[in-house]
Amino acid sequence: MSDSCIFCKIVSNEAKANIVYRDEQVTAFRDIHPVAPTHILIVPNKHIESVGTLEAEDEQVVGHIFTVARKLANEEGVAAGGFRLITNTGANGGQTVFHLHVHLIGGQRMRHPMG
Ligand code: AMP
Repeated sequence: MSDSCIFCKIVSNEAKANIVYRDEQVTAFRDIHPVAPTHILIVPNKHIESVGTLEAEDEQVVGHIFTVARKLANEEGVAAGGFRLITNTGANGGQTVFHLHVHLIGGQRMRHPMG
């Protein structure tokens, strides 16, 4: 837990969020600035800064995030049409909140990110 981390505060219920899923390893909540009809952030309950600071012991929770993403994509009704998972890492990657998270984005056709 990092005292200044907004996602840690959401995980511990100190800050409000629209939580759609929670278990002992991860929490998922709706992004406050959605870019598509479905825009959910899935975060480990443990504070991990980014992919850049992942340790071998974190492999299980990272895999679990993807399993939860599949489940939520199904529940949101975006699995059949397709969806996107994004993890921005570091300043050049566009990361603005330094608690590892995967964006689950769906419900509309998106342009290819590589142009
Ligand atoms: P990134 O820029 O990849 O680090 O993504 C951070 C995301 O967190 C952005 O899409 C923000 O809109 C979102 N965000 C920031 N603060 C909150 C919050 N309190 N509740 C929900 N989403 C948030």
